[in-house]
Amino acid sequence: MIYIGNHLSSSKGYLAMGKEATKLGADTFAFFTRNPRGGQAKDIDPADAGALMAYMEENSFGKLVAHAPYTMNLCSDKPDIRRFALDMFIDDMKRMEYTPGQYYNFHPGSHVGQGVEATIPVIADALNKAVFDGMTTTVLLETMAGKGSEIGRSFEELKQIIDLTDDKDHIGVCLDTCHVWDAGYDVNDFEKVLDEFDDVIGIDRLKAIHINDSMNPLASHKDRHEKIGQGHIGEEAFKKIINSPRVQGKPFILETPNDDAGYKAEIAMIRSWMK
Ligand code: FE
Ligand code: FE
Ligand code: ZN
Repeated sequence: MIYIGNHLSSSKGYLAMGKEATKLGADTFAFFTRNPRGGQAKDIDPADAGALMAYMEENSFGKLVAHAPYTMNLCSDKPDIRRFALDMFIDDMKRMEYTPGQYYNFHPGSHVGQGVEATIPVIADALNKAVFDGMTTTVLLETMAGKGSEIGRSFEELKQIIDLTDDKDHIGVCLDTCHVWDAGYDVNDFEKVLDEFDDVIGIDRLKAIHINDSMNPLASHKDRHEKIGQGHIGEEAFKKIINSPRVQGKPFILETPNDDAGYKAEIAMIRSWMK
């Protein structure tokens, strides 16, 4: 089996997200550690975070997949933005310890004209500064669509970043189905995509899936998510993806254009496909 859920808002607190997930038929979820478009972070109430952990245990949840702010560009060409991003990253690693043992997913960054070769070491350096001894979080690099100057549009680019990190025990990958499709990986043959992932990165690094259909054709480099089964990837591919032996036990996060009722229906639909 897989765990499945969607993005929830932390504005009402952590335990509230767990209960909200249950209402939607979910047994994992994603949330932003702070305002996704800004930097301000609310204090975490340790008792509330602990209550969520207990709730997840009681209700057999899978691992959570927290998401870094979209604006966090660790390899910006502007030193102040780069510093701001690194400070957020370091702070988020501490904040994640209120919910021990979960995942923290981030977009590797955009090189904004500096070039891939020049910026990959900068991203790895940021990881080396944020990852600390004894931490329980696993940091996930997200596979990207290759829109603009995004880094992480191929498994090779992610592998190059991982190779430059010191503490690889705390590093994994989150595969976004819309992004890899837009980057040119045909997920209709999902096992072949996983074979390639295994050859380049190693399948053990695959920790979580962002499950999204795409509004655009293969290799479009656009990054526009569509509801499951209503885009260019299509229902048949997702039936194979969720039943692949190599992704069982992993959290699947929906980032599709839906309201609560839509997510509830989409989660139920995907569950009905589980073999
Ligand atoms: Fe993302
Ligand atoms: Fe994603
Ligand atoms: Zn996306």
